[in-house]
Amino acid sequence: MNKQEMEQLFMSKYEPSGAELRVFNAPGRVNLIGEHIDYNGGYVFPAALEFGTSLAIRKRQDGKVFFASTNLPFTTEMALEELGREKTGEWTDYPIGVAVELKKMGIPLTSGYDLLFHGEIPNGSGLSSSASLEVVTAFALLSMEGKEMDKVEIARLSQRVENQYVGVNSGIMDQFAVANGAQNHAILLMCDTLEYKLVPFRTGEYKLVISNTKKRRGLVDSKYNERRSECDAALEMLQKRVPELNYLAHLKPEQLEQWKGDFDNEVLYKRARHVVEENARVLQSVEALSGDDLKAFGELMNASHDSLRDLYEVSCLELDVMVEEARKIEGTLGARMTGAGFGGCTVSLVHEASVDRFVAEVGKAYQERTRLEGEFYVCGVGDGVHEMKGEK
Ligand code: ADP
Ligand code: MG
Repeated sequence: MNKQEMEQLFMSKYEPSGAELRVFNAPGRVNLIGEHIDYNGGYVFPAALEFGTSLAIRKRQDGKVFFASTNLPFTTEMALEELGREKTGEWTDYPIGVAVELKKMGIPLTSGYDLLFHGEIPNGSGLSSSASLEVVTAFALLSMEGKEMDKVEIARLSQRVENQYVGVNSGIMDQFAVANGAQNHAILLMCDTLEYKLVPFRTGEYKLVISNTKKRRGLVDSKYNERRSECDAALEMLQKRVPELNYLAHLKPEQLEQWKGDFDNEVLYKRARHVVEENARVLQSVEALSGDDLKAFGELMNASHDSLRDLYEVSCLELDVMVEEARKIEGTLGARMTGAGFGGCTVSLVHEASVDRFVAEVGKAYQERTRLEGEFYVCGVGDGVHEMKGEK
């Protein structure tokens, strides 16, 4: 959706007025590698996608704020002083939460607004439509109010909206990637310190194909907690050998190998091995991509999936089938599950000439083997939040 199309959508929804109409966009995101290691002091490595959430916005003179989306029928209008007084229990809690958070930060809205959102990210499939919605709202409102804010701060405030206002407990990666992403780059990010680096990711003739298993994620919360306590137990055991060790991911693979015999619990060793090796794979990925070695990166993606399946045990039949079928397609450099696991999406790196065949053949085989209809999104790496100008 380009700027003109968004303007047309807006004009079909709202009455004309003399006020300036501006259009903003924030992308979705995918984590390329570095799974289940953020809470162990490891890196994540997300990239912004080429599709996202657009917002057309215009000032009003009457101090009211109107919220509408092309994706969902619910709309609402509120006077400025009413914002946040009561939860709507609807999608509008995300953008209202942003206005409330800005006010808490000493930046109350000084004008009413008409807002129209249009999302291209499938909701609830793990590509972070909610973070995209929060970040585009924050960036647009700040721009309309003539206030400058660092994008790292925008990510932080958007995370607070998700955690505190909407009440979904999630880390900073999503909002961070959506705010700070850049075309032809992935983001190496340490979630607890927010230390980060943009790493070149020139996909060239390759595309990211995101495959949605459409499997409902049942186990994810309880298994997530179980993995966290297993990691804590592994860390505690290793701290007897390496007292200065604060996080599992800070151990080198060869150090872990040295202490292997000391584990009396095979499961804890497997979990620790995933964490330590996955963090090493992230760093190897940075090196591979800095040298445009997509083939080496694809192999690291494959190794990541195999480790999540066999060592960390957070995959499931549907994710494994999707990955197996993806790897059968000539032109696929690598395929892995992305996100917490037990359902959700996989990400594959596929030559553009093979993409149609990938979607047809993987889709067919997946359906035959799982009785579920997968969904496929083909995209490149896009920019973080920005104002849309001209054609783009
Ligand atoms: P995810 O972030 O993985 O896509 P979530 O459940 O966290 O899934 O967020 C999805 C919710 O965000 C939707 O149910 C809706 O409330 C809101 N949302 C996302 N995009 C839009 C949009 N374009 N218009 C309205 N609401 C949206
Ligand atoms: Mg979300």
